[in-house]
Amino acid sequence: MSKINRFLLSATLFLFVISGYSQGIDDGTQLQVFQRTLKLMGSRFDLTVVAENQTKGDAYLDMAIAEISRIERLISSWDPNSQTSKINQNAGVAPVKVDQELFNLITRAIKISKLTQGAFDISYASMDRIWKFDGSVMKMPSEEAIKQSVAKVGYQNIVLNQENGTVFLKNEGMKIGFGAIGKGYAADRAKALLVKNGVASGIINASGDLNAWGAQPDGKDWMVAIVNPLNKDKVFSWLPVKDQAVVTSGNYEKFVILNGERYTHIIDPRTGYPSKGVRSATIFTANAELADALATSIFVMGVDTGLDFVNQLKGVECILVDDNNKIITSKNIALKGVETQSR
Ligand code: ADP
Ligand code: MG
Repeated sequence: MSKINRFLLSATLFLFVISGYSQGIDDGTQLQVFQRTLKLMGSRFDLTVVAENQTKGDAYLDMAIAEISRIERLISSWDPNSQTSKINQNAGVAPVKVDQELFNLITRAIKISKLTQGAFDISYASMDRIWKFDGSVMKMPSEEAIKQSVAKVGYQNIVLNQENGTVFLKNEGMKIGFGAIGKGYAADRAKALLVKNGVASGIINASGDLNAWGAQPDGKDWMVAIVNPLNKDKVFSWLPVKDQAVVTSGNYEKFVILNGERYTHIIDPRTGYPSKGVRSATIFTANAELADALATSIFVMGVDTGLDFVNQLKGVECILVDDNNKIITSKNIALKGVETQSR
């Protein structure tokens, strides 16, 4: 058995921020790292900015938090008053006028659906939950029940009207949700706002969906570590992140074994069957929104199709961990000192 198997390595990302370094700038002030951790969008966010002093650092962190909260109010499916909920409430009834921002996000989500041939689909949200991953499902549900569970899913039935700025879900019972793209989008927007306000460097990390820019105060790159999720002290490889997003979709606990095959809790929205083969998918690309959506898509596609797909995309790389804890990377990634397969 290889060393990798013994350590049950998975490409969970863990961000190490090496703080304490500082650099003098002309007027004698020192650049420092300021951080805050809090719950937003139902997830843990770790926010990091580089600033000259505590007052500025705090102001920047507050700014990022306000921006992420604003996005949460726009895209939340839990809040019955969000524009997203209004779209869902009016499925099969009437088009709903939404902010340009939400309209554009939905437009991009549909583009990703087309790119992934439906593996990614924000209308996954209407799926009936016939699969349970708590040990109670002992055998395959019937073919008919599986087919029925995804009857209302289909991005083709999301009707956008650019002129009126409306979104219409054609069929009653249809629903959209941003679970696989929202955190990435929020990270991108928070970063963009900070950059606009002159913050030269930082990291927005939404539970493993992160977007980093600039460098540490001492000029060194921010680094992410590929670690063993069962023992986060075990670092297998370090990678610099420079003006880049890195997103991991991991899946270690929720699965079910049926007929000897291991199925995960992410369901293929086209078929209703749980995806299989991928234990963890990490995507590297320019923005966290795309990385977030692609990480989820790879789960649905499986290892071979997922890798082929990523290898065809310019500026996108990935690290996958399969069901046997084998690490597979896309063409242009090299992990030093780790046994990997590249295809
Ligand atoms: P996490 O945010 O837990 O790291 P992901 O980014 O992979 O995981 O998103 C998983 C979430 O995405 C699910 O909880 C669900 O809300 C949503 N989702 C599941 N399957 C799909 C799909 N095929 N297309 C779009 N969204 C999905
Ligand atoms: Mg995702």
